[in-house]
Amino acid sequence: MARAIYPGSFDPAHNGHIDIATRASRLFDQLIICVYDSPPTKSLLFSTEERVELFQRSVNHLPNVNVVPFTGLAPTVAHRQDAQFILRGLRAGFDFELEFEMALMWRNLDPEIDVVCMMSSLDYQFVFSSRIKEVVTLGANVENLVPPHVAEALQARLLPSRNR
Ligand code: ADP
Repeated sequence: MARAIYPGSFDPAHNGHIDIATRASRLFDQLIICVYDSPPTKSLLFSTEERVELFQRSVNHLPNVNVVPFTGLAPTVAHRQDAQFILRGLRAGFDFELEFEMALMWRNLDPEIDVVCMMSSLDYQFVFSSRIKEVVTLGANVENLVPPHVAEALQARLLPSRNR
């Protein structure tokens, strides 16, 4: 059985992440989305539980996909989840160098786990969680970039006075 983990901080999940998870659900028997509990270099808007819930609600319709929190090294988590693959998404240009270097490090840590990269769909090449948070803070409507429940959570967290 082909199992993959899809690790990331997903703060929050957006349509680019959901598109990768949806397409990968047809490639793997089981896909486990792993939400990074405490990335060392990132300050996060949503708690781990919130990020898991926001992603889980976005993939509830995919029976072979589930979402769990994780901490530590991705290859260790892959082993723990009985997965042979680590899935990553690639946007044009900027993601490649970073993902290539990270895949080589993961391979060095555990040669049994392979990294599979899927190209982002054209519509989501420019979609970043950080940019979404920035533009929502400035009043932008991001409903074509995130599911409605994520748009609501962003509004509630970043523009609380509008929700009173
Ligand atoms: P990171 O893992 O660097 O914290 P994210 O949580 O934002 O970053 O992303 C998790 C995974 O999803 C990474 O493989 C990243 O390249 C991928 N990804 C992020 N945004 C997109 C997008 N718009 N289209 C496809 N893949 C994406």
